[in-house]
Amino acid sequence: MSLDRKVVITCACTGAETSKAQNPALPVTSDEIATAAEEARAAGAAILHLHVRDAAGKATQDVGTFRRAIEAIRKKTDIVIELTTGGAVGDTPQERLRPIKELEPEMASLDCGTVNFGNDYIVNTLPVMREFAAEFRARRVRPTFECFDLGHVYASLALIKEGLVEPPYHYGLVLGVPGALPYGVRELAAMVDALPEGAEYTVMGIGRSSLPSQFGSIALGGWIRVGFEDNVYYSKGRLAASNAELVERAARIAREASLEPATPADVRDYLKLRP
Ligand code: ZN
Repeated sequence: MSLDRKVVITCACTGAETSKAQNPALPVTSDEIATAAEEARAAGAAILHLHVRDAAGKATQDVGTFRRAIEAIRKKTDIVIELTTGGAVGDTPQERLRPIKELEPEMASLDCGTVNFGNDYIVNTLPVMREFAAEFRARRVRPTFECFDLGHVYASLALIKEGLVEPPYHYGLVLGVPGALPYGVRELAAMVDALPEGAEYTVMGIGRSSLPSQFGSIALGGWIRVGFEDNVYYSKGRLAASNAELVERAARIAREASLEPATPADVRDYLKLRP
């Protein structure tokens, strides 16, 4: 990685599992999410990782709900939108894919394997991953290979070898999910070492590993993700006032390392997103 490169900050403002009971500032409606996106962009985020909720506040893969959120965001900011295809625990692969087929976002997450998720679990078999990759490729949606384990990186390499994904590659390395790989610089470095040549990667540390993982990623040359999907606290015992407050600190950490936060235009260039 070149020292002239910027750091791409992703804001995962809502997620599927976080509740207003955990942090009352959680954005849930399309207007709240659009405001969170605008504030995150102003604070230095270039990508918004998007989940949406139904009227009861429960995670949904409903296309109309995604469409309303995207329209509301687009009225306020040029931030790159990365849709989830992880959905919520228990969604079927077809439910998870539907927004990609109908809304054709610039970017979307592609989970690269089966993993414990606290007391639940997420299932992604290789045939499901191939189906997702083929749908992404047909629509030129840039995947973020989400890897919760070292083995998931190798599963992504199978998709690349089969010609289902074209470069540039972007990974989301998730550490600290209960029951999965914890955050540590050695664990992160093992994942980074296994990535294909030239791949970009965004590190997401869950819960208390969010802050140390930002330093770890900057040290290795990676990008960072913050937001209420991953962590609702600013510091021990003190809730974050907003997603933007977490983005502001991430941008500050980058700048202390002499790295500027990237803009959405930079991301569209680095990852060759569909015009
Ligand atoms: Zn997500």
